[in-house]
Amino acid sequence: MEIKIAENCGFCFGVKRAVQMALEAADSDRESYTLGPIIHNPQVVGKLADKGVGSVDTLQDIPEGTVIIRSHGVGPAVYEEAKCRDLDVIDATCPHVKKAQRDAASVVEEGMTLVILGEKDHPEVKSINLWSGNKAIIVETEENAKNLPIVEKMGVVVQTTFSQFKFQSIIDILETKSKNLKVFKTICTATQERQSSAVALAKEVDLMIVIGGKNSGNTTRLAEVCRDVGCTTYHIETATELQLAWFKDTQTVGVTAGASTPDWIIKEVIKTMKEFEELLAAESAKAEDLKKGCVVEGTVVQIEDERAYVSIFGLKTEAVLNKSEIAYPAPASAKDVLHDGDEIKAVIMNHIKEDNPVYLSITRLAKDEDWQYVIEAQEKDEPIVCKGIDAIPAGLVVTVKSLRGFIPLSQGDVHFVKSLDSLVNTEFEAKVLEIDEKKNRLVLSRRAVLEVERQAKLEEALKNITVGETYKGIVRKIMPYGAFVDIGGIEGLLHISDISWQKIKKVEDVLTVGQEIEVKLQSFEPETNKLSLSLKALSKSPWDVAEETLHVGDVITGKVVRLVAYGAFVAVNDDIQGLLHISQITKQRNAKVEDYLTRGQDIEVKIISLDKDAKKLGLALTELMESKEVAEEAE
Ligand code: SF4
Repeated sequence: MEIKIAENCGFCFGVKRAVQMALEAADSDRESYTLGPIIHNPQVVGKLADKGVGSVDTLQDIPEGTVIIRSHGVGPAVYEEAKCRDLDVIDATCPHVKKAQRDAASVVEEGMTLVILGEKDHPEVKSINLWSGNKAIIVETEENAKNLPIVEKMGVVVQTTFSQFKFQSIIDILETKSKNLKVFKTICTATQERQSSAVALAKEVDLMIVIGGKNSGNTTRLAEVCRDVGCTTYHIETATELQLAWFKDTQTVGVTAGASTPDWIIKEVIKTMKEFEELLAAESAKAEDLKKGCVVEGTVVQIEDERAYVSIFGLKTEAVLNKSEIAYPAPASAKDVLHDGDEIKAVIMNHIKEDNPVYLSITRLAKDEDWQYVIEAQEKDEPIVCKGIDAIPAGLVVTVKSLRGFIPLSQGDVHFVKSLDSLVNTEFEAKVLEIDEKKNRLVLSRRAVLEVERQAKLEEALKNITVGETYKGIVRKIMPYGAFVDIGGIEGLLHISDISWQKIKKVEDVLTVGQEIEVKLQSFEPETNKLSLSLKALSKSPWDVAEETLHVGDVITGKVVRLVAYGAFVAVNDDIQGLLHISQITKQRNAKVEDYLTRGQDIEVKIISLDKDAKKLGLALTELMESKEVAEEAE
């Protein structure tokens, strides 16, 4: 984009002079005020106000000090009042305007009808008229001129900034209104030069930028003459009003500025336009790089329920982001996820062809990144976060970021479970078992994570356990062969044979899941981390009790519980049975036990031996009988 600046533009002689005089007044000791804005440019007026030179509407608003007459000039009454009020006057009236004032006064003095070509409410036109004693007819348009009466003598004075093109057509009409027409062509050459330069430039560029106050007549006319030659024209006050879109597809841009526009504003505008030029060049270069599969950054500019529109640097039209491409699972509405102004990163989904929409996908981009994430997690053997979404007989369907994965039933827990229902809608960690990006296959294991946790817990817990010690535990699971008991984070097996000294038919007859019990750690196998627990070890065995309560030689009463060929088993209490050998029942050879004893019979026996370790109790009946007989004979 080429930027061309009009040959004549910006501050004219009169404005430059007035602003300079006001700036000098700002540096003086006396309070200074401009009567009306010094020029039609808000930025310059603001700058002067910052330096202490304010603007007032009338002399009455000035208590004392200096009044600065602006370049448009004022009527004679102002000078008289200032003199009466003892105010200093800095007269910044442009010399061209002064001449127009004098010309107007002379027209009246010579008895001619005075016509001023200009805007009737413009301060300059008012000031010129005041020097004629307000006797002028103000003509602004050709129509106004046509409506004038025919007069003997007519003198014409022109607003200094009046359009030179309009001037001639009106003069042509006025020549029909008076035979004695005297024209004072008081149009300022500065205005003429600026308009001519603007028109010349507007004819050769694609676009014109006219800089100056929106309240500045000469700037507004510059914009008008540019538009009149068919050039697209924007009238701005400062660089902040420039829009990048104006310059898209523009080869040449012309710049001009009104007579009241300071250099620093023009420079700022050109600087911004050059920045735009660089931006557009970069955008154009970027556009050539954009193609299917490119990752781009953009701004959401419009959202509907079904899609969002995204502005992408380098694309002429907004790209389309359908809601199914925003997130997985797709949101109910695109508005639920995105907002105007959101910055997004997405991938281009289609080949870019002239006038065809460009489609974007965040999920596709996320998928690429997410596959990379799971691949790295597998390589590093690190767990990743999953969310359960559907339990099926074979396992659990999960999401991992934007990906869909599967956990087989056997990989759902460290123990056998019938279903992974409890994991639906919950987040948990799992390890990657298998990846096939092309087939969209991702298999995970929660069990692998739990195993690691369990191992860590186990190792920690193992530091605190000692074989032979007693621990409090909780019954976690009951199996036909025993119960698993948790002792501080480790589960050990309490075998059915280690539950009680008595024989039990079913574990459930003695224990329930959740029951708190004390157990003794009987053994620990480090290779398999198997713990063997015992409940019965915490109580004395019947043989221990027997050793303490039964002694060789004691005579006790027992019950015959079983007859065998070599004798009878006699229960001496609930837990201990002793053997009454046939030889201890009778001296008869080939005797049969059932000839002497019957099952269920209560008999007195004598303890003849006790071996706790062998769990053997020897009883005698014969000896007892014989000893009884001897005792009876002695009596
Ligand atoms: S445009 Fe011409 S008449 Fe108006 S202030 Fe500037 S130099 Fe003076």
